[in-house]
Amino acid sequence: GHISNGVSKETKIVVNSPNVSNDGNKLESRFLYRKNHFEHRDGQLHVTPKEHEYVFRTELKPKKTGLLLVGLGGNNGSTAVGSIYANQHNMNWRTKEGALKANYFGSVTQSATVHLGWDGEKQIHVPFKDIVPILSPSDLIISGWDINNANLYQAMVRAKVFEPELQEKLRTYMEGIVPLPSVYYPDFIAANQGDRANNVIPGKNKSAHLEHIRKDIREFKEKHDLECVIVLWTANTERYTDVRSGLNSTSAEVLNSIKNNEEEISPSNLFAVASILEGAHYINGSPQNTLVPGIIQLASEHGVFVGGDDFKSGQTKFKSALVDFLVSSGLKPESIVSYNHLGNNDGKNLSEARQFRSKEISKSSVVDDMVQSNPILYPDGKNPDHCIVIKYVPFVADSKRAMDEYICSIFMGGRQTFVVHNTCEDSLLASPLIYDLAILTELASRVSYSSTSSGTFEKFHPVLSLLSLLLKAPVVPAGTPVSNAFMRQFSALTKLVTTLRGISSDTDMQIEFFTQ
Ligand code: NAD
Repeated sequence: GHISNGVSKETKIVVNSPNVSNDGNKLESRFLYRKNHFEHRDGQLHVTPKEHEYVFRTELKPKKTGLLLVGLGGNNGSTAVGSIYANQHNMNWRTKEGALKANYFGSVTQSATVHLGWDGEKQIHVPFKDIVPILSPSDLIISGWDINNANLYQAMVRAKVFEPELQEKLRTYMEGIVPLPSVYYPDFIAANQGDRANNVIPGKNKSAHLEHIRKDIREFKEKHDLECVIVLWTANTERYTDVRSGLNSTSAEVLNSIKNNEEEISPSNLFAVASILEGAHYINGSPQNTLVPGIIQLASEHGVFVGGDDFKSGQTKFKSALVDFLVSSGLKPESIVSYNHLGNNDGKNLSEARQFRSKEISKSSVVDDMVQSNPILYPDGKNPDHCIVIKYVPFVADSKRAMDEYICSIFMGGRQTFVVHNTCEDSLLASPLIYDLAILTELASRVSYSSTSSGTFEKFHPVLSLLSLLLKAPVVPAGTPVSNAFMRQFSALTKLVTTLRGISSDTDMQIEFFTQ
């Protein structure tokens, strides 16, 4: 791309390939998927490379998309909305360090580039957003619910994320937005949240609550004439719900349990069901187990996507890159101790045991795939000791501190210890992920593919594992392996996007430089 005045302009890409066609409405790209087939025979691993042909079809025009946030008045919610206005209006603001201006750093779709190769003089990196047409966060129409009635100006001040001058510049845009009343069942979030709940849908009837939320989604869709609606949970972390047959193991059971006002149906279960029944995609940005088998089945029956769990924003994102790097280097992480303290409302909610437990589970699973990848280092498959601590310290507010100690066994019985200290406003890490989750979900809704032998085109699986890059504990289709390593996830995503466009992905072999 060419850069002028610090503003990056769109890179126009023309693909010259007999394997792509573009009729102005859709791209069609033929792709040879090279894949190894395996057999374990006679104590040997037999590897047979094979080629499979696929055709990907991508509708070119992004849909008019609305994003409904559950927890709109929270730190993430108010930061995600405020940052869009700040970018739309090219806002800048002064701080004691100088003037700053709005950007979309931290959003992979907006700020990452993809390496395509070498043009003889320089490396070619193109903006992710210029490969196939995708939405910008600034295109998203946002609304949502909160159990607290603060308007978004008040919510933004309470969040203590933006500098005061920016808060005042945003005031006129934010003051008029008041979250819709929401469903509040005190048993699912910490008791210390009780005094926040002043914007609650009355009654105790879960069917009526479901209908209320469904109507909110319908009205939002009609009001803005939307082609795509995404509901995303960025409300408080709930405790886990039970998962058992009779309760929520099939779609019929889930619907029945709502009808029977079953205790174990959580607010997030209701939002997921409402969203699916209205044809809206549902994403879980928190760690609780909303996406129970019955809800996944319901999504599949209604042809919508679900994704989760828990934004992968700070400490865990770093861990999913660092541990992959260590294990790939042939070093053996033995002990990982992750300590956090934070002073925002999320930290307050997580100070109760059942909500902390949800977070502990999602934070713990992140090194599993890397340990399993290396039987030389981990012959018995036993994970390193991995301890997660979270403490609530109001003074540091949204500026979360994460301290990690990694100890590795190295060469000849030696030990290597890393200590990492990470300080950051948590909501400035999570908000760009909220945009990316919505933007990639909308893109996925425009893609279908066929293995040419079958000739029929299908959509992606309703459990959208494409979103894994952005999530701590990716929910994947049953029987599919989970990938947590950051660069593997990044490469899976960028390879898909380049494939949609009919561009070969970079193999990183650089054969052109082998000769003298
Ligand atoms: P927050 O407490 O500031 O915001 C949550 C909001 O949800 C609050 O305004 C609360 O009133 C509202 N709420 C609670 N129950 C609700 C319900 N049933 N319906 C509607 N609204 C409800 O927290 P936050 O810092 O914005 O984080 C939000 C969520 O994102 C938390 O679960 C957190 O664990 C998760 N998360 C955050 C990050 C990050 O980096 N910030 C990373 C991973 C996950």
